[in-house]
Formats: sequence, structure tokens, C-alpha cells
Amino acid sequence: MKALFLEEVGRLVVREVETPVPGPEELLVRVEACGICGTDRHLYRGEFPAKPPVTLGHEFSGVIEAVGRDVVDFRPGMRVTGDPNIACGRCAQCQKGRVNLCLNLQAIGIHRNGGFADYVVLPQTQAHSLPETLDPLGGAFCEPLACCLHGVDLAKIAVGSSVVVIGGGVIGLLTVQLARLAGATRIVLVTRSAAKRALAIRLGATDGLDLTEGDVVARLTGADGLLPGGADVVFECAGLAETVEQAPRLTARGGTCVLLGVLPAGEKVAFEPFDLLFREVSVITSFLNPHTHRRAAALIASGAVTVAPLVSRVVDLNEAVAAISGPAAGGEIRVLVVPGHAQ
Ligand code: NAP
Ligand code: ZN
Repeated sequence: MKALFLEEVGRLVVREVETPVPGPEELLVRVEACGICGTDRHLYRGEFPAKPPVTLGHEFSGVIEAVGRDVVDFRPGMRVTGDPNIACGRCAQCQKGRVNLCLNLQAIGIHRNGGFADYVVLPQTQAHSLPETLDPLGGAFCEPLACCLHGVDLAKIAVGSSVVVIGGGVIGLLTVQLARLAGATRIVLVTRSAAKRALAIRLGATDGLDLTEGDVVARLTGADGLLPGGADVVFECAGLAETVEQAPRLTARGGTCVLLGVLPAGEKVAFEPFDLLFREVSVITSFLNPHTHRRAAALIASGAVTVAPLVSRVVDLNEAVAAISGPAAGGEIRVLVVPGHAQ
């Protein structure tokens, strides 16, 4: 089979390798689609540690080709999505049920071979079924949606509340849809791109706001703003120091601000504790997708969350090299890798 390897930091190669054989409790999955995420670019540039040589790709789904002898709930022909984050189950955090904080966390596509390949090996504990009727590209969105679900769970959105989402990428546009499903009645997407604002409104946002036009805090929270006094819940999904600083200022008294965006290690931002305290604004973080993958699969399978408009481009494994190593093309939301399945 063909697989795209991170050979070392800064070098991606598509190589022909033996098709892996699944272990007793593993599935061999023929990859139908695998999303290219910002993390893949960070791994390529050495900004996140990986374990090269390794096949990248952690947002994948496909059809089971073969199963190990001790696999119970899955059989060849079934469509599945993979939860890439493998917790050890033994450490103090796992014992508390906080598997995203596992001290020995291993990820498929980072520490072991992932989905930028014709086939990927998936432990049965990490697999979740998808309907055979689903668009084969849809399953690649389960992993990012599962991350957004964790953030939305932590935010505890009350029905009828107001929500601001900063950032119009996959994470922002999926969070908009979850906020709508959670019962928010005002949902404002803050992003620079007019096309993404228009898409957000199609997907359930009530308003869009440009990040770069004037003072976004005043325009949103001022007396004449879209949400005077701020939003009950704010999700930061852009991952920039500037927007992380804005997020609590866009949050209403007693509200919650959820930080999902990832800033480079070492980068600092400024908060005003006086303001946060006197308005009792909670600033919380949301990391990965503990126990949310199955619900993400259900949301995509049922059509409750729409993912087709988030696919900007489909590439094969060879084209994926440039898509990962080059700069992210402006305006693109998600590029999906569909392997060629050459034998
Ligand atoms: P993305 O596609 O890059 O989207 C980020 C959005 O932020 C872009 O669409 C862009 O919107 C906006 N943005 C980017 N650069 C900007 C700039 N210089 N100024 C203003 N706005 C800018 O990323 P994503 O996949 O949606 O992920 C969003 C963030 O979540 C990333 O930081 C990612 O690492 C993080 N993440 C976190 C988790 C978690 O578990 N917490 C999971 C997955 C991803 P416009 O260009 O339209 O303004
Ligand atoms: Zn653990």
C-alpha cells in the first residue's frame, strides 16, 4: 500500500510499504478520507513532537477490510471512524475518567501510523460505527467535531442563551452548529472572511461580524452592539493571542469563555483579573475529545451537523505533501486526503 510518512521534521515522503496486519484486537481500515489539520502542519515543522518516521493523519474514517481474532463488535465491510487518542487506562487521570489528560496519551497519526495511507490499523476500542449510507467524506469530520462537543459540554449552554464563536475554520463552524443544537438563540460568528460568515449563517448562526473592522468588543457588546453586555458563552476558535484576549471581554457578566484555539508554546496573553472577577467571567479551556467521539459520529450520521460545505478540496496522497508542507491556502476550510488505493 501507499502511505505518506513524516520521515523527519521538514520531510514528507509517499512510500510503498507492506499493508499492515491487524493484531488480535485491531481492525484494518481502508481509508476513505482523512482531513489535513493544523496539527499536521505543526508536526511537519517540528512545532509539536512526533515520532518519525510515522504516517500522519488523525481525522480519518473508512471501511473495515479485516479484523483481528478477538474483535467483537465489528466485521469487514462496516464503515467506521477512528478516535485517534489512545489513553492508557491506568494512570491517575484515566482512573478519574479524564482520558484526554492521560499521562501516557498516544495518538494515531502522531505516535503511531495514521490515516494518510491506503490502510490504517485501528484498535477496536478506538472505532465507532458510521452508516453505510453516509457520504464517505463525512466521517473525516468526527474527530474535530468530537473536540467541539467537549467544549460545548464544558460551556453548559442554557437554552435561549447567546453565543459568540471567534474563528471561521472547521472548529468555529462546527461549534456554531453545536451551539444551535444546544438551544442558543443568538449565535454570532466573528471572522474576517465574508464567505465564512455567510456559510455560518447557513449553518445556524444569526449574525456574522468582521474581526478586523474597528473595535470588535465595542461593536459587539456596546449599547448599540449586536449583543449589548456581551454573550453568555464565547468560544475562542481562532488560536491567536489577539482573539484570546478579546474572548473574555466579549463574555457577559456571569458568562463563560471557552478557549479551544491553540497558541504556540510560550506565547503569553494579557487578561484584566479585576474585570474578570467583578463580572465573574469564567475562562475555561477545552482539550481534545474525551468520551465524545460516539456522539460526534451520531451527529454526522444523522445529518444533525452538516459537514459537506466544509470540504474545500480533495487531494490524493502525493498532492497531500504540498498541502501539508505549504502554507494553508486562504479561504480554504478543510482539505481532505482521499488515498488512491493502489496495491
Ligand atoms: P483554522 O481552519 O485555521 O481556523 C482558524 C480561523 O481563525 C480561520 O478560519 C481564520 O478565520 C481565523 N484566523 C486565522 N488567522 C487569523 C489571523 N491572523 N487573524 C484573524 N483571524 C485569523 O483552524 P481550525 O481547524 O478551525 O482550528 C481552530 C483552532 O482550534 C486552532 O488553533 C486549532 O489548533 C485549535 N484546535 C483545538 C482543539 C482542542 O482540542 N482544543 C482541537 C482542534 C483544533 P478567517 O480567516 O475567516 O478570519
Ligand atoms: Zn492514562
